[in-house]
Amino acid sequence: MSSVRSKTFVWWLLAQLCLAAVSYSQNKPASWTPQELTDLANIEKTALTSNYGYEQLSYLTDSIGPRLTGSPQHQAAVNYVAGEMRKLGLEVTLEKAIVPHWTRGNERGELVSYPGQSKNLSQKIVLTALGHSVATPADGLTAEVVVVNNLDELHALGRERVTGKIVLFNREYDKRVRDAGYSFEGYGDAVRYRAIAPIEAVKLGAVATLVRSVGSAEFRLPHTGLTMYDPHLSKIPAAAVTAEDADLLARLTKRGPVRMKLLLQTETLAPVTGYNVIADLKGSQFPDQYVIVSGHLDSWDLGTGAIDDGAGVAIAMQAVQTIQQLKLRPKRTIRFVAWVDEEGGISGALQYVKDYPAASHFATIESDTGAGHPIGFVTDSSPQALETMQPIAPILQNMGVIVSRTTEEAGADISPLSIGGVPGFAPLMDSRTYFDYHHTAADTLDKVNPTDLRENGALVGVLSYALATLSTPLPRVPKPIPDWMK
Ligand SMILES: [Zn+2]
Repeated sequence: MSSVRSKTFVWWLLAQLCLAAVSYSQNKPASWTPQELTDLANIEKTALTSNYGYEQLSYLTDSIGPRLTGSPQHQAAVNYVAGEMRKLGLEVTLEKAIVPHWTRGNERGELVSYPGQSKNLSQKIVLTALGHSVATPADGLTAEVVVVNNLDELHALGRERVTGKIVLFNREYDKRVRDAGYSFEGYGDAVRYRAIAPIEAVKLGAVATLVRSVGSAEFRLPHTGLTMYDPHLSKIPAAAVTAEDADLLARLTKRGPVRMKLLLQTETLAPVTGYNVIADLKGSQFPDQYVIVSGHLDSWDLGTGAIDDGAGVAIAMQAVQTIQQLKLRPKRTIRFVAWVDEEGGISGALQYVKDYPAASHFATIESDTGAGHPIGFVTDSSPQALETMQPIAPILQNMGVIVSRTTEEAGADISPLSIGGVPGFAPLMDSRTYFDYHHTAADTLDKVNPTDLRENGALVGVLSYALATLSTPLPRVPKPIPDWMK
């Protein structure tokens, strides 16, 4: 074939491919009717001018406050949200789940001897118990502190130099990762020591363990969160020290022996009954197919759980309120869920998959990444799911929501349904400051910008109605069950 002829052939081939693509897109069934696309644009417009979500968040944080699983405040929040959903005319169910009941009590850290110490002086260490930590003896425990940066350093010390000591895991949150737009990956890297610290330290005979606070800001605020125990090993007290105090301990222990007194008056009480708040906006054609729109109502106890995750609940409330206000009837049932016990081990979500089979769920949404400006949305399903959602892109672009991508996990509470193949979705937010406040005493209402919260309410409103009216099925991709869930 001459080069001229081969070029002609290439152009012919390209033209055929283009024609094929055009005829494919013309034959593809439309995901939404023009009227449904107009309805979706109205949901966005209405939510963007509404204060409903912010008012809900204000009540949950300012009036009810921290909502630790098993606490009276959590129960008050359950009753409040259920009442608000009834006011909207939704069908409300309180779904029982047996949940952990842990309380913090007093906590204190003090260096009682250290290099360069003035006579009779001690100094304070700012710390907080990790979630589900056991208590120290009633009058505290005093022991020498050893500092390691990772497990290899711990193992290198060996049993001889760890037995009877307090081990500090000094893993720093890498802010360069956050600055590059990967704040959750930075968190994932640093947080693994919070989970495994008491297990790894006790194997070598430690009497307590500390972790450097997992956060991206240094305001001498400790960062709590769940820790883990191995049922076959003894349980030792575990706390997070602030980044500043971790640095202090690292400097002092290089100079000589440091002894610390640690007091944690936590209590692990008998499990209690908690509730997932479920509120259904019934579907007109497929009432038995569900699209979940959700956040978790429990929070840690140090702040008032504004960004984690009062915001997620408020965003979901805003989404269903807007759809109700516009008197829109989805084809499938939109099911609002305020999950219990995300922070303590997703016992609410695990109960849910026992009570409601994955097969009856079309899709799920969870918002649990704060309330930063949304730049897009993610799915734990396949790229084909994103392609199906493409017709709503021009609507979302209006408010700067332009990214759509796949992710490993869209939300902790919806992950059990994702394992069953239900496509999970979540807003993708600007999370640059999220880990400055997350799980600290500074997680309060002032950290939430009302405009950003409205945008997330609009995004989740559009996504939920779009999924509940979609004319084509979404691919269902079952996932392997993670070890900890088995
Ligand atoms: Zn959360």
